[in-house]
Amino acid sequence: MTIRIGNGYDVHAFCPGDHLFLCGVKLPFSQGLLGHSDADVGMHALTDALYGALALGDIGTHFPPSDPQWRGVASDIFLRHAGASVTEMGFKISNIDVTLICEAPKIALHQLTMRTRLAQILILGVDQVSVKATTSEGLGFTGRKEGIAAQASALLVAL
Ligand code: MG
Repeated sequence: MTIRIGNGYDVHAFCPGDHLFLCGVKLPFSQGLLGHSDADVGMHALTDALYGALALGDIGTHFPPSDPQWRGVASDIFLRHAGASVTEMGFKISNIDVTLICEAPKIALHQLTMRTRLAQILILGVDQVSVKATTSEGLGFTGRKEGIAAQASALLVAL
C-alpha cells in the first residue's frame, strides 16, 4: 500500500479563562477551552487524522484521559507520538489540512503561525501544512459560541 488517508474530528467547550491553545499557538482570549490536556482542539483533530491514516486508533487509545499523567499536558506530546508512528510504520506525511470551526477567536491573523508551529512539530515544510477556519453562521453549538470544533485530514505516502 503506497498511500493512506486519515481524518480527525474534535470538540472542546469554552470555559472561564483568558487564553486558549489552537494548533500549538497560545492565543489571548476572553475564555479558555475545557479539557483534560491543554484542550488544543485543532491539534487533537490532526493527531487523530494521523492515527486514523495508520489505523492505530485515536488519541484516547494511546493517551487515556483516565490516566492522570496526561492532565494539563501540552498536546504536542500527542502529535509528536502520532508523527513518530507515521515514520515507524514506513510512511511520511504528504500534506495535512486542519479546519477550525468557531465564531471567535478570529483565526486569520494566526494562520501562518499555526502552520509554522505544526510544521515544526511534524518536521514538515510549511507548504505541506494548511490551517483554515470557518464559522457556522451562528448555527449549532459553535454558532452559539459554546465551543470550538476542528476537522483534519492527513495524506501519507510510503517511504
Ligand atoms: Mg480533544
